[in-house]
Amino acid sequence: MREYIEKSQDLDPKESGKVLYVVGIGPGEYGQLTMKAAAALSGSQIIVGYTVYTDLAREHFPDKEYLSTPMTKEVDRCCLAFEKAGEGRRVSLVCGGDPGIYGMAGLVLELAPRYPQVSVEIIPGVTAASAGAAVLGAPICHDFAVISLSDRLTSRELIEKRLSCAAMSDMVICLYNPSSRSRKDYLSWACEVVGRYRKPETVCGLVRNIARQGQEARITSLKELALIQADMFTTVYIGNSQTGADHGRMITPRGYRYV
Ligand code: SAH
Repeated sequence: MREYIEKSQDLDPKESGKVLYVVGIGPGEYGQLTMKAAAALSGSQIIVGYTVYTDLAREHFPDKEYLSTPMTKEVDRCCLAFEKAGEGRRVSLVCGGDPGIYGMAGLVLELAPRYPQVSVEIIPGVTAASAGAAVLGAPICHDFAVISLSDRLTSRELIEKRLSCAAMSDMVICLYNPSSRSRKDYLSWACEVVGRYRKPETVCGLVRNIARQGQEARITSLKELALIQADMFTTVYIGNSQTGADHGRMITPRGYRYV
């Protein structure tokens, strides 16, 4: 209990009152931005983020100062946000979806000890897995694993191990970062790994540009999924042995019985 109290005191806002908000802005459309996230953005003077996300925020909060760094400059982006917050400006660092799911929340907290005068508040958002699931139907209504196919920070061997373990345990698998220009064949490779444990007719789904202009969804089989060229704006769902497709909806049953 004492340890808990000490820990929670650590989380108290700093006396300086300087706060950096790490804000999840959801998958794209304004309606999927939480009210707490909207309040943080509206109360900010500066919004920092990767251009795709600052462009989405700018549509609804045009009077803010926007600062961006390129895609691979995540450390610089977080430091920039801390520096501006340290100067006493009200700053939000924006991430797509949820900042704690393949977002900046972890890196911000790792860097936080370098900026002791700034406290950090993380504001969650609707992640691609749940927003895309709602488009397809109910594909992740039972146990599921979320795996990123990006090997920029994780080795291919570890990705393969995680795919195999998830497939072996019959969990629904939700894939983020299924493909990119330099990893064109990764989705088909992932299907091959999963296919060692799952039938070719396993029901799968993909949603591209969730809650953004040009949203597209498709339900298919594991065999067909291996032949599809997905891109980095797509989230992929591989069903478990019970997942079905019914009237154009992908459904993973929880097991309720009814007559
Ligand atoms: N923090 C984000 C995920 C960042 S990783 C979140 O919680 O949603 C980036 C990957 O997320 C993309 O390659 C894609 O697989 C998925 N993604 C994020 N937003 C998406 C969207 N609007 N439509 C489809 N996929 C999306």
